[in-house]
Amino acid sequence: MPELPEVEVIARGLRSRLCGSTISSFRVLYPSLLKGTGIIGLGKILGCKVIDVRRRGKYILMDTAGDALLLFHLRMTGQFVFRFPHQPWDKHTHFGLSFVEDPQELRFRDVRKFGSLSCLKIPSPEFSNTMDGLGPEPLEIAEADFLRLFRGRSGRLKSLLLDQRFLAGIGNIYADEILFRALLNPLVRASSLSRRDRQRLWDSMRQVLEEAVAHRGSSVRDFVDTEEREGNFQRHHRVYGREGLPCVMCGQIIKRIRLAGRSSHYCPICQRPPDSL
Ligand SMILES: [Zn+2]
Repeated sequence: MPELPEVEVIARGLRSRLCGSTISSFRVLYPSLLKGTGIIGLGKILGCKVIDVRRRGKYILMDTAGDALLLFHLRMTGQFVFRFPHQPWDKHTHFGLSFVEDPQELRFRDVRKFGSLSCLKIPSPEFSNTMDGLGPEPLEIAEADFLRLFRGRSGRLKSLLLDQRFLAGIGNIYADEILFRALLNPLVRASSLSRRDRQRLWDSMRQVLEEAVAHRGSSVRDFVDTEEREGNFQRHHRVYGREGLPCVMCGQIIKRIRLAGRSSHYCPICQRPPDSL
């Protein structure tokens, strides 16, 4: 599933290509993609100029000069590709947008069909409800605010990092990589972290996510950017997907455990579990 770095890379690709372009038509082949929006409602964007494309958590927001924006979520397998109008639509392409100034159309592919698209008025309660449910941005939150986030939290650290209301944008890959850099066990209780642990976690979170964006994300399954290039950060993973391989720090074999239905990869030496879990 694309996480913060991959979604950021896609948003940047769309922004550099589409800002200033005028939406001339759209096509919906899989109406269940639309959430809280009918096909008629989508008509609001016709003739509108795209003024920005940005990321919030794992959402992509396409702002228009009108009073509506398009809100995409890629979920498991959502992808954006550019195609000429005469090129065939494959069975996994569910939505397309054409632009006056661009000879190619933007198409949304999604093999697993969990992705979503909403067309929301700005401002509106629907937009506020979606955005207000998201926690702070990991690359924007100040250290002091991050340290305070843990007050009253008793859950396991890995589960907390995956909670989009706690921090927006981190998923399974980056939670494992961040915890390894911070030398913290995924099962540790958030309430048991010392101030130094939380400071190390803040540093590690920023390092991992900034490096991942610089490497244009991780292509673990099918992630490609809007130019259909793979990311490179999977080559820099230290624990994720490295079960049974030696730890890059100590040589111990990397373990994989199940936690809340998800896999967690960690080094039993570098991320030694606390005595009481
Ligand atoms: Zn190790």
